[in-house]
Amino acid sequence: MRNLILCGAPGSGKGTQSDLIVEKYGLLHLSTGDLLRAEIAKQSELGQKIDAIISKGNLLPDDMMITLLEQHIASLPEHTKGIIFDGFPRTENQAIELESLMKRSGDETAVLIDLHVDEKETIQRLINRGKTSGRSDDNEDTIRKRLVVYHKQTEPVADFYRKLNKYQRVDGMGTVDSIFQRIDEILKDLYC
Ligand code: AMP
Repeated sequence: MRNLILCGAPGSGKGTQSDLIVEKYGLLHLSTGDLLRAEIAKQSELGQKIDAIISKGNLLPDDMMITLLEQHIASLPEHTKGIIFDGFPRTENQAIELESLMKRSGDETAVLIDLHVDEKETIQRLINRGKTSGRSDDNEDTIRKRLVVYHKQTEPVADFYRKLNKYQRVDGMGTVDSIFQRIDEILKDLYC
């Protein structure tokens, strides 16, 4: 499988762009945030633990996140063309674990696409989303915390993939279609 990592601050449009990529290239969208919210919706003990972490804007511990991700990947259909990792890896340690998982399964992460959006714009997008999303982390205080966590813990992931020559920065400002065109320029070489 040739997999793709979609990276960017909260509110940078990863979910929206993933939908368009799925539509055009038939990749499978794997959002770790969605995975965790599905666990919360089960109202299990694990879900309650996860909810307490997410609603404060913190990241799940790496080992917990990696276990959940591996379990999910094992349940995916066998002949998948490729996965869009949305929201994973979020720490350098997760990146190391993902690359080792790829090696073990004979797959690869072809590229990391880093969606760049002005911080003011991401905050506004998330506040707007919070009016309808029902997400416990889409409120102003938690949004600011999530951005701090992003800069501190997730930005090093970009450097990790830069060193592997797999890093592509994409301007995430503008209309949904214009942003997709920029992503598509990268993907058509990989998947067509
Ligand atoms: P997202 O939907 O990607 O914005 O993720 C929502 C929240 O889920 C994040 O703020 C984290 O609390 C948690 N989360 C999602 N992905 C990860 C990950 N890869 N590692 C740790 N926590 C995560």
